[in-house]
Amino acid sequence: MATAVASTSATAPLPRTTHVDKILERSGPYTDEQFQAGDIVKDFLRNHCKVLVIGAGGLGCEILHNLALTGFRDIHVIDMDTIDVSNLNRQFLFREKDVGRSKAQTAAQFVERRVPGVKVTPFHGKIQDKDEAFYLQFNIIICGLDSVEARRWINATLVAMVDEENPESLKPLIDGGTEGFKGQARVILPTITSCYECSLDMLARQTVFPICTIANTPRLPEHCIEWASVLEWPRVFGDKKLDNDDPDHIQWLLDTAQTRAKAHNIEGVTWSLTQGVVKNIIPAIASTNAIIAAACTQEAFKFATTAAPYLNNYMMYTGNESVYTYTFEHEKRPDCPVCGGESRDVDVQPDWPLERILEYLLETQDLQLKKPSLSGPKGPLYFQAPPQLEEATRPNLQKPLGELLSHDDELIVTDANLPFQLSLRLRFPGAVDASDLAAVPAAR
Ligand SMILES: [Zn+2]
Repeated sequence: MATAVASTSATAPLPRTTHVDKILERSGPYTDEQFQAGDIVKDFLRNHCKVLVIGAGGLGCEILHNLALTGFRDIHVIDMDTIDVSNLNRQFLFREKDVGRSKAQTAAQFVERRVPGVKVTPFHGKIQDKDEAFYLQFNIIICGLDSVEARRWINATLVAMVDEENPESLKPLIDGGTEGFKGQARVILPTITSCYECSLDMLARQTVFPICTIANTPRLPEHCIEWASVLEWPRVFGDKKLDNDDPDHIQWLLDTAQTRAKAHNIEGVTWSLTQGVVKNIIPAIASTNAIIAAACTQEAFKFATTAAPYLNNYMMYTGNESVYTYTFEHEKRPDCPVCGGESRDVDVQPDWPLERILEYLLETQDLQLKKPSLSGPKGPLYFQAPPQLEEATRPNLQKPLGELLSHDDELIVTDANLPFQLSLRLRFPGAVDASDLAAVPAAR
C-alpha cells in the first residue's frame, strides 16, 4: 500500500505514488501473466479506470482514502445517509461540523482536499435510483455496505447486466463486510464466480430466541434480557412503549434481567449486552474496517493493473478468537435464483395448506425473506399487500396445495427483500414427470 512520503529533509517530498509506481514499472516473481509493466498500466490506473464505491460509512471512508492513496483518480461514491454524531468515532472523513450533511458529498470533498489530483464524484441517494447505464460506466465496483438488502440488489443488477456479446458489461464486484472483530472480502465476477446470493446461507441467522426458552428455561444472559424486555416490560408497564435510547429504560431492563440471571445462576448480564440485545446492535470496530477495506482496495488495484493475481474468491478474517484468516473458492449454486439456471424444487404433500409454503419460505436461511407473496400459473394465490388483496387471498392459506396447484407447477415468489422473482417447482409425491415418461420405452 502506498503511503505519502513526507520528507523531513529540505528536499521536496516524493510524489505520493512513488512506491506504487515501483510495482508497476517491472514484472516480478508474483506478477500476473497478463501484466504489462510500464506507462500503459500507469496511464490506465490514473486516467481511465473508473471505480464506484457503494457506501461512505465505516468501510467506505477507509476504501475511499485507500483508493486515492493507491493511485486511483476517478472515484465515484454513492450513499443515501447523512452523518450522525455516532459515526464520528470511526468514519474519520467526518467532523462534528459535518453532522447532518451528506456522507457521500462530505467524504468526496475531504478526499479531494487531502489528495490533490484525485476526483471524487459523490451521489447522495439510493443505489436503486441509478439505472444500468450508470453502472455500465465503471471498471470496478466496490461495496462497503452494512445492508444485506442493498448488496442483494446490486448483485442481482450486475448479474442481469452481463451480456455475453459485450465483455465490457461484466463488472467485477468487490464486496467487503465487517461485524465486530470479524470480516470478509470477496471478489465476484458476475455469472462467472459464485455471486452474493449464492452465499446467503452463510449469513448469521438473526437471533430469535424461542419464547418458551425465554419464559421457562433461560440458559444465556441474552435469554434474561429478552425476558425483561419482551415479557416483563409489558407486564409491568402495560402500553408504555420501551424506548431503546432512554438510559432509564435500559437500566430497568438491566436490573430486571440481572435479578433473573442470578436466580438461574447465569452470568454476563451487562449494560452493553442489554443495550446490544434490545437494539440489535452489531458493533463496528474501526480497525476491522481498516483491514477489510485494505483487502478490498488491493483487489481493486490488482484488477486495474493486473499486477498480481486477484482473490479467488472469498477471504474471511476472524479476529475475535486470536487472529485467523482463510481464503477459499466459494462455489456457485446451480439453483441460485440470481446466477444459477435451475429452478428450486420443493417436495410437498397435496394435503398441506398453502400456509405451509409461506412457513417454508420464511424458515429458509438462504432466501432471507420478510413478507413473501405467492402466485401460481393461474394468478395470485396469496398477496401480502395491498390490504384488499391480502384480505381477498387470505382464505387460500388454509386450502390444500392439491386443490390450488398441480405437480410440477411453478410458484412465483415475490418479496420486498427480493430484487428478483423466485420460482419454486412443486413436487407432489408419487407423481410422474412428463420428461420421465418420455424415457420409459413404449409398451409393446
Ligand atoms: Zn448466485
